[in-house]
Amino acid sequence: AHHDPLTGLANRILFNERLAEAVAEARRQQGSLALLILDLDRFKSVNDLHGHAVGDRLMQEAAARLVHNVREGDMVARLVGDEFAIVQVTGEQPASSAGLAQRLVDVLGRSFEIDGQMISIGGSAGIALYPQDGAEPSGLFQAADLALNRAKRDGRNTFCFFEPGMDIKFREHRMLEQELRQALAREELTVDYQPLVDCGTLEARGFEALVRWRHPTRGFISPAEFIPLAEETSLILPLSRHVLATACNEAASWPHPYRIAVNLSPSQFRAPNLAEEIVETVARSGLSPERLELEITEGVLIGDTERTLKVLRRLKDHGIRIALDDFGTGYSSLSYLRRFPFDKIKIDRSFVQNLGIDEEAEAIVRAILALGRSLRLDVTAEGVENAAQLETLRVEGCNLVQGFLLGRPSAAPLSAARRLQALAGNLEAGQA
Ligand code: C2E
Ligand code: CA
Ligand code: CA
Repeated sequence: AHHDPLTGLANRILFNERLAEAVAEARRQQGSLALLILDLDRFKSVNDLHGHAVGDRLMQEAAARLVHNVREGDMVARLVGDEFAIVQVTGEQPASSAGLAQRLVDVLGRSFEIDGQMISIGGSAGIALYPQDGAEPSGLFQAADLALNRAKRDGRNTFCFFEPGMDIKFREHRMLEQELRQALAREELTVDYQPLVDCGTLEARGFEALVRWRHPTRGFISPAEFIPLAEETSLILPLSRHVLATACNEAASWPHPYRIAVNLSPSQFRAPNLAEEIVETVARSGLSPERLELEITEGVLIGDTERTLKVLRRLKDHGIRIALDDFGTGYSSLSYLRRFPFDKIKIDRSFVQNLGIDEEAEAIVRAILALGRSLRLDVTAEGVENAAQLETLRVEGCNLVQGFLLGRPSAAPLSAARRLQALAGNLEAGQA
C-alpha cells in the first residue's frame, strides 16, 4: 500500500510521511532540505502514439533514471500519473538541488529506447526549499508546484526555484483568466484582418484574421499573452469558435472573394468534433469553403498524429485549405511536409526580418522557397517590413507576402486593400 506497482517507487502516502519526517528532522537540526516536483513533458502523446504498454515501459525507465541519480537518503516517489517528487535531505542548498534538478532534466531529455524505437520526451522540475519557501510540507508542495508551473511555461525541459511573488503572479494569471472568461461572454474580443498580398502585383489576395482584446481598464492585451492562457484552460474553444464565425461572416460579406485565413490552436484538436464544427460554421456563414485557409503550427502535429491527420484530411475533403504557420521555427518541419499535403507554408517572420542582415537567414528563405516550388505549395513570407525585404522575396520567387509594409492588422480590411494600390504606385516610383 506504500508503493507504486508499476515503478516500484514510493507512492504519495509514503512520500508524505517521509517528507513530514524530513521536515521535522530539519527543524530539530536547524537544517535545510529541498522538495522537487518533476513532470514528464509530452508523456500523454507517448500513450496516444505508441500505446499504453510502451507508455508503461517508458514510465519504468524514467523512474529508473531518477532513482539512479539521487543519493542514498533522498527519496523518489511517483505521486500521480507522470508526476514525481523527490525530497533531498543531503547536500548544501540551494546548490545541491539545482545540481540534482539539472541532472534529472538532462537524463529525461535523452531518448528512451523501447522495443527498438527511440522516443523523446523530456521533463520539467520545480523546487521549494525548507525553511525559506515553506515551514510545513503543505506549503512546500504549493511552492514547488508554482515553481513547476513556471518551468513549464518557460518552455519545459528546464527547472525553476520557487520565488516569492510567484504566488502573486499566479493569482494575477488566474485573474486575467477570469477576465478573459468575462470578455468572451461580453463579446469584448474583436477580430482584425491583415492583408496577404501578391508579391508581384501587390494586390490583396486574402486576409488573416487576428483576434484582439481591448480590455476596459488594462488596454490592449496581445494575443501572444492571452492565447496561451486560453489554451491552458478550455477557454480556447469558445474563443476560437467566436473568431472563426466572425471571420467567416465578415469574409462572406466582402464584394471580392478574398481568401480568409484563421489560426487554429493545437489544443483545439483535443475536441472530438473539430472538423465537423468548422465545416458547420463555414456553411452557416455562406462562405465558400475554398476561401477558408486554416493556419496550424507544427505543435498541432506533435502528439496524436493519426487523429490530427484525420481531422486535417476531413477539412481538406471539404475544400478547406491548410497552411503550415511559423515554418522553420519548429524542429522537424520536413517530416511533417511528407505526412500531410499542405496547401501552403508560411515562412516565419524571424527569417524575413534578417534578410539583408544575416546570410544564413537569406539561405533559409531561398531553401524554403525552392522547397515550396518543388512540392507545389504556395509560400507566404511573414513580417515584411521594408521595401528591401520585399524586393529580395520578389527576386527569389515568393508568391505571397504579409507584413507591416503591406498593411497592419485592421478592422477595415477593404480600405487596406485600397491602400495597397497606392503603395504599389509608390514602390514603383521608389518612394517607399
Ligand atoms: P501569427 O499567426 O504568426 O500571426 C502573425 C503575427 O505577426 C500577428 O501578431 C501580426 O500582427 C504580426 N505581424 C504581422 N506583420 C508583422 C510585421 O511586419 N512585423 C512584426 N513585427 N509583426 C507582424 P498578433 O496579432 O500579435 O498575433 C500573435 C500570435 O497570436 C499569432 O501569430 C497567433 O499565433 C496568435 N493568434 C492571433 N489570433 C489568433 C486566433 O484567433 N486564434 C489563435 N489560435 N491564435 C491567434
Ligand atoms: Ca498565423
Ligand atoms: Ca506566423
